[in-house]
This record gives sequence, structure tokens and C-alpha cells, in this order.
Amino acid sequence: MNNGLRILAEQNPPLTDHEALVESNRCLYCYDAPCPHACPTHIDIPRFIKKISTANVVGSARTILESNLIGATCARVCPVEELCEGACVLNSEHRAITIGRLQRYAMDHVYDRRIEVFRPAPATRRRVAVVGAGPAGLSCAGELARRGHEVTVFEKRDLGGGLSTYGIIVLREPVPVALAEVEMIARLGVKFVTGVEVSEPITGYDAVFVATGLGPTPSLGIPGEERIADGIAFIEQSKMNPGGLRVGEKVVVIGAGNTAIDCATVAKRSGASRVTMVYRRTEREMSAYPHEYEFVKKEGVEFEFRAQPVAAYATGLECMRDSSTFLIHADTIVKAIGQQKPSIASVFGLETDRGFIKVSSTLETNVLGIYAGGDCIRAKGAASTVMAAQDGKIAAAAIQVALAVSPPGSLLK
Ligand SMILES: Cc1cc2nc3c(=O)[nH]c(=O)nc-3n(C[C@H](O)[C@H](O)[C@H](O)COP(=O)(O)OP(=O)(O)OC[C@H]3O[C@@H](n4cnc5c(N)ncnc54)[C@H](O)[C@@H]3O)c2cc1C
Ligand code: SF4
Repeated sequence: MNNGLRILAEQNPPLTDHEALVESNRCLYCYDAPCPHACPTHIDIPRFIKKISTANVVGSARTILESNLIGATCARVCPVEELCEGACVLNSEHRAITIGRLQRYAMDHVYDRRIEVFRPAPATRRRVAVVGAGPAGLSCAGELARRGHEVTVFEKRDLGGGLSTYGIIVLREPVPVALAEVEMIARLGVKFVTGVEVSEPITGYDAVFVATGLGPTPSLGIPGEERIADGIAFIEQSKMNPGGLRVGEKVVVIGAGNTAIDCATVAKRSGASRVTMVYRRTEREMSAYPHEYEFVKKEGVEFEFRAQPVAAYATGLECMRDSSTFLIHADTIVKAIGQQKPSIASVFGLETDRGFIKVSSTLETNVLGIYAGGDCIRAKGAASTVMAAQDGKIAAAAIQVALAVSPPGSLLK
């Protein structure tokens, strides 16, 4: 069994002051730049980069946070190749500006120095409850606190941050980065009630934002399933108790999405000599981002495509391809085949669409005063942290409008 420590450090080094200055000066500060349109939170990217080039790093961080309160997390975890950097005009002939790394530079500057960028607004005495302290909940809570509302976040785990804290591998985002954002939101006046799972309707608030994310990995329904580890729990262990993570010499990861890639990366970096990803469809149908797939191939991870798991044994995973079965030897088997649908909808009487909470374009549910956002509403397309952050913003703006036209206590019955 391995418990290697190569999973403990952030993979990309920070930019030095000199590197940030040089990189920021490469930006063309395009008129009607395409990059902010490609960012789901519409950060004014040329503006924050310009501020770095003039050594106004706190101002740069303010520009980022005005559009995205979890900018330090997004700087690390956003699929920038598909988003802001993918839209950079320099892509065609040169190298795109490293927007994510510059964003990290500005955000780390204020968090490392404990600089307060925003102050809470005067109290409005309107009360909003947020369920879930992940990216969507934090974003909504922080936006509402900035408008002076009294916000309480209920979180079932001991720590806030949701999957940024418990689910995104340390190579990409260390736990203290996510917790620094939770603390910043708390300093805006948001109250966190942790270790409390909301399981009945909430009363005494003007509005509720539901941002509970998704559940654990679903069952495969195959014999020997009890031998298979839950991929999300496997990653959580690598973050919260890396010394206790038991990884065999040979590891099989079932699935071919981004979580499966992360599980394979953790296994490899923990010292496994052979890691094989098993996917029932073809290479072209993988849901992992292309750059993630390339990364994990370079890590030495192997692939078995069109292989359907049929049984798990102490010696490995039996799979079927074209009517014949074969055994992939493994001492550790991990499944990363998505997450269960949100179970909170029935608590509040919310309508669902294929198991996800159904919302309007302003993220209102069918129940007056209850809004929802983040992974728990994302019935279509890939879920991401930056989209959850944007949902929090949209819901906060809609709640603000609703509060402005309704007397206290009139929204939620
Ligand atoms: C392994 C993994 C890797 C990922 N990597 C990336 C990546 O690199 N880049 C990227 O953009 N996205 C990534 N994602 C997706 C991203 O993490 C999510 O899209 C994002 O966290 C969604 O935010 P959320 O607030 O909706 O939900 P979550 O982050 O899941 O937060 C929901 C919170 O609600 C709490 N909660 C749930 N039920 C209750 C209840 N009844 N009462 C109180 N609290 C409750 C949970 O404990 C949790 O803290 C990854 C996801 C996984 C699983
Ligand atoms: S939040 Fe993400 S997509 Fe938006 S500019 Fe920052 S790194 Fe790019």
C-alpha cells in the first residue's frame, strides 16, 4: 500500500512579481475584448490585468471580486482553455495571456496580506437563509451581505467551501485557499451555521437560496460493489487525511469524466505503479476536458475503452467487451461515475427536472421566495465552479429585486 505525499502540493507555482508584470504587459487590452464574454462571471479581465501592470494589485483584486467573490478558487480550477484564455485574441498567432495565473496572483496578494477589499453595507434588516456553503452558496451569501442583508448559511459539513474544500484535488486547489474565501465572506457579516443538515423547511427568513450541490457517487449495481471506493470520498481522503489514504500498487478507476481523471491522478501521485481508467464508451465520448485527458496520459495512466464493469473481486475488476469478459488486476478499485441527484427538493416542495431543481432564468423555484443554483439545478452540460459562482450572483440580484418590492416576511410563507 502506498500513501505517497506527491498529492499534497499545488501543482502550478505562483507567478513572481516580475513574471506577473511581464505577462500583464503582454495583454493588448482589446477594445470590446472577447475574454470577459467567455468568463461565465464576466470579470472585466483587461481592467484587472491593466491594474497589475500599473502595480495596483489590490485594485486588480477588487475588479475580480466585484464580479466573482470566489476568484481565488476560480483562478485555480476554471477550465481556462475552454473559457477566458480560449477566447484570447493572442491565441491565433502567439500564446494566450495566462489569465487564470494572473487572477491567482492578484487574489493571493490580498489573501496573503489579509487585505480587506470590501466592507459590509449598512444593515437592511432583511434576512436571507442560504443552504449549502459551496461556491454557489458562498457567492450568493457574499453578494447579499455586500448589499447589507442579514445572511445565514446552513452547511452540513464542518467546513465551508463545498467541493472546493472537500472535492477538488490539492494539486489544483489547496484547502486553505477555499477556506480563506469562506472567511472573507464571513467577515462581510455572513453567519455560518456548520454541522447542520437542513432537512425541513426553513422559517423566519425573507428568502432562501438552495445550493446543496449533488450527492455521493451512485451505485453500479454489480456484484462485489462493496469492494469499490466512492471516488469523491477517495479524493476527500486525499485532501483531509492524506496520510491515511490507502492506495494499492494497481488501481482501477471506473469512469472517464473529470472526477475520474482526478481519482487517477491522486492514485498515481500516491505511488500506484499501474493506474487504469475503465470506460464503457469510446475515447471520443469521454466527458473529461481534452487538456485533462492529455495531462493524465502524461502521468502514465492507461485506458480501457468500451469496457463494461461486471463484477469486482479482491483480485481486480471483471469487465465485458464485445460479449467476452476479462479481468483487470487491481488491489484498489474506485468508481467516479457522476453524483446522485439533489435530495433536498422534496424538503421544500420544489419541482424537479430529471432530478435537478427546476428554476426560472432568475433562479426562482416554483415556491415563492425560494431560489436555487449551482450543481443542484444543472440538468444540462458540465457543472463548474465558475458557473455556480455566477448562479449565486444571479440569485442574489433576483432576491434583491424581490426584497425591494415586498414588505419583510411577505415572500416566504
Ligand atoms: C472531484 C471533483 C472535481 C472537480 N473539479 C472541478 C474543476 O477542476 N473545475 C471546476 O470548475 N469544477 C470542478 N468540479 C465541479 C465543481 O466542484 C462544482 O461544480 C461546484 O463545487 C458546485 O458548487 P455548488 O455550490 O453548487 O455545490 P457544492 O460545491 O457541492 O456545495 C454544496 C454544499 O451544500 C452542502 N449541503 C448539501 N446538502 C445540505 C443540506 N441538506 N443542508 C446543509 N448543507 C448541505 C454540502 O455539504 C456542500 O458543502 C469538480 C467536482 C468534483 C466532484
Ligand atoms: S473566473 Fe475563471 S473563466 Fe472567469 S476570468 Fe477567471 S479564470 Fe477565467
